[in-house]
Amino acid sequence: MKFFALSAASLPLLAAAHAGADFANPHAKLPRQAPVNSAPAPNAVTSQSTNAAPAPTTTPPPSPPAGSQTTSAPSAPGTTVPGVPPPVTPPTVPTTTYTFSLDATNPTAVPLSEIVSTAASSATRPLDTTFTPGSVPTFLPGAPPLPNAALLSPANYPKLDTPPPIDSPEVQQWIKEVAASGVQIPNIPPNNLGGCPNNTAAAADPSRCWWTCGGCTRPADVTDCPAPMTWGLTYDDGPSFYTSDLLNYLDQEKLKSTFFVVGSRVISFPATLQTQYMSQHQIAVHTWSHPQLTTLTNEQIIAELGWSKKVIKDVLGVTPNMMRPPYGDIDDRVRAISAAMGLTPVMWTRISPVATFDTDDFDIHGGLTTVEHVLQNWENIIGNVTQRNSGFIVLEHDLFQQSVQVATGYILPDALNHKPPFTIEPVVTCLNKPLSDAYIETNDNKTNPPAQSGAVPTLSSGAPGSVQATKGADSSSAGESVRLSSGLVAASLTGVAGLAAGLAALL
Ligand SMILES: [Zn+2]
Repeated sequence: MKFFALSAASLPLLAAAHAGADFANPHAKLPRQAPVNSAPAPNAVTSQSTNAAPAPTTTPPPSPPAGSQTTSAPSAPGTTVPGVPPPVTPPTVPTTTYTFSLDATNPTAVPLSEIVSTAASSATRPLDTTFTPGSVPTFLPGAPPLPNAALLSPANYPKLDTPPPIDSPEVQQWIKEVAASGVQIPNIPPNNLGGCPNNTAAAADPSRCWWTCGGCTRPADVTDCPAPMTWGLTYDDGPSFYTSDLLNYLDQEKLKSTFFVVGSRVISFPATLQTQYMSQHQIAVHTWSHPQLTTLTNEQIIAELGWSKKVIKDVLGVTPNMMRPPYGDIDDRVRAISAAMGLTPVMWTRISPVATFDTDDFDIHGGLTTVEHVLQNWENIIGNVTQRNSGFIVLEHDLFQQSVQVATGYILPDALNHKPPFTIEPVVTCLNKPLSDAYIETNDNKTNPPAQSGAVPTLSSGAPGSVQATKGADSSSAGESVRLSSGLVAASLTGVAGLAAGLAALL
């Protein structure tokens, strides 16, 4: 996939990404610049917001140790009078101003002021359509009838949101299948938690092609759509309580998406997954418990991917052949295991070592960013899109109500009214393949060779078309945190954060 680089100076402020509690610098982001598309279109909705908290562009200073005192900066000359206390200057509250212009919004959109981390959970709409067991997905030639989701028994699966044990008969069988696949698994040790700053040698080793730290990709990675102005629409981390809201909107607008689903969520929302699938959206793998895959052993990676493939197959009758690594955390070891298990990695578009097409929508729920910031990120993304000679893929989520509200109320209506128009479609079809090529059971192996036999990542460094991490200097950090919401355990998505001078500065 094509790597289209812009200099940092020409970027109209791209989002950085998420970050997490276990990363050293969770919020190092590009400096804010004027957005490209600042002139409102006719009938445009222009929003301007100033907010003081959170301050997403800075890392909060560490708290002083207990018992320490705050030392005031010296007063300017001439401002003090002996015996008279100097005038009290209010503390400076960091403010961030976002200005963005949307071509359209949904008339029923939740007001921006209500899309906040503290919002009460909204009522969810029922699914527009549910499907009875035995329904036949006639849009997928050769697909089996829909299984009976009511028969799904959580007792037959690993504990939710926990890395599955590797000693089960199922995982042992998958380990044998990977060994028999013929795919060579590179001898790369698992990374430490903590991303690039906590894995300096790995981050500086281009032979690992660790996407997190600098954006290295291999030819088999999907990072964008080939055709200009084409958006490979994706949503991660569901299904959830709020996926039905998104599905209803997508139905209304006749849009199809790719959903990277977490196996633990599939256990909780099997009917939702069936509706997604039967509505001709693409279903793909996003692991069982949403870990950083490069931190796991080979066997643990196999367990994460294997159980998520299995639960999807049990609910839908078909098995996806695409995956997205949580946090985008992939290196050549994870690539090889994925290929051996028939899974092609799908990332999101990155236009420089430090800038990716991440709306940061996930972080509204946790209070780490604001909806205005997310819409600013979105405007910056589409400002870059028109300059690209290929399409693009954006990171968004359907786990929390805030990210669904910003998608259905603002981002998608804006995209649908963009001029020139976008082609919005699932990743598999943006790659000029039929939807049936998205599942192992219905894939045409002639036109879409399975990953393990045809599109195996080139595991040597410097492969043609690859983009190498630059010796640590271009490293970025990714983050993760695990949070609870509505009884769901979720994880924030990764972020890009480091700047070139970066790795050292991040430590
Ligand atoms: Zn995710």
